Amino acid sequence: MGSSSEIEVVTMGSKTQQQNPTGELPAITDVYSASAYGDFQQLRSFVEHGGASVSLPDGNGYYTLQWASLNNFVDVAQYIIEHGGDVNAADNIHQTALHWAAVRGSIAVADLLLQNGARIEAADVNGYRAVHVAAQYGQTGFLNHIIATYGADYNALDKEGTSPLHWAAYKGFTDTIRLLLFRDACQNRQDNKGYTPLHWAVVRENIEACTLLVHTGTKEELFLKDSAGFTPFQLASDKGHRQLALFLSKAMRTHRNRVVDKIIRGNLGDKGCAPILFCIIVVLMILFTISVIAAPNLPKVTAMVGLWGWISLSFGFCSLIMFYRCSSKDPGYVKRADELDRNHDANDPLMSIDLNSSSWTGNWSQLCPTCKIIRPVRSKHCPTCKRCVEQFDHHCPWISNCVEE
Ligand SMILES: [Zn+2]
Repeated sequence: MGSSSEIEVVTMGSKTQQQNPTGELPAITDVYSASAYGDFQQLRSFVEHGGASVSLPDGNGYYTLQWASLNNFVDVAQYIIEHGGDVNAADNIHQTALHWAAVRGSIAVADLLLQNGARIEAADVNGYRAVHVAAQYGQTGFLNHIIATYGADYNALDKEGTSPLHWAAYKGFTDTIRLLLFRDACQNRQDNKGYTPLHWAVVRENIEACTLLVHTGTKEELFLKDSAGFTPFQLASDKGHRQLALFLSKAMRTHRNRVVDKIIRGNLGDKGCAPILFCIIVVLMILFTISVIAAPNLPKVTAMVGLWGWISLSFGFCSLIMFYRCSSKDPGYVKRADELDRNHDANDPLMSIDLNSSSWTGNWSQLCPTCKIIRPVRSKHCPTCKRCVEQFDHHCPWISNCVEE
């Protein structure tokens, strides 16, 4: 993580700005700068009148196609390919034009490169493929595009055993994490240090990333230990990230409680406090009835006391019915992907947005990795119910149901 190669990409990415600090027109002196700034006419004149080649690397080993790809100049890239530029040409650290396109999420150039035979799984000296670079720079749209259209392997590992999900968690790009989880990226993979994506999110104190990983993940990731024997919680405590440690210990406790609950009370653990509350009301009503019937001075009950007794009992019954309705009523669950598939509801707005279509550049935060849907605006995922709820406010443990805004 944070190795020299990744920093290298940053330098070359910012090179264009370094050359042009005052906002003046850039100095285009060769095919490389012409490609980097997208000056198509200059490039043509260098090649056609100056006899320059577009297939040779510059002094640092970088190719014209890499420069054009970095800044998403499709016409320039097309021209370079037509004039002998190799789409798979690799620089000194074995990065290709596709790696550079991933840095800034240049989708149009990536399409051009891949359609002209660029290898999608080309790896550099660190084992980084285009998917890794896209995750390192939070290029969610780019990542989704190469996965959906070209079948890029989003679980690919680099030489340190890190996957794109590890990188996104480390960098704290929650949209990228959400996309990868939505696509079922492996969450319990441990890299060479034994770190899971959750460990990396903890190291960098990315609270939102941790929340997302914990809510989407299973119990397993919370208890996985790195090579030093630390679980994510222990790592958070060790690094002094108190808020995270608290959150993780709570998550671990919930899982432990569920196991204990299941052993002691069957399946009650998932049902919250509602059954207990329900039983208390029933027991109180029975106690009340018994105490009235068994009272030693029962014959002296007046009409008023009788009426009061019956009213109390009716209130008890009403509250039971209301309570049952509150607990069992649908708080506005959004249909999950599996339910939508079953119903083949073509008119549903959720189904009309196809994540696989490259035209969708919507809001990544609307992806629910658990329900596998693009959820409507204002809806939220309830980690307790494990469902998305329209106009979600909070999950009430007393009624064991979600409460709307
Ligand atoms: Zn959801």
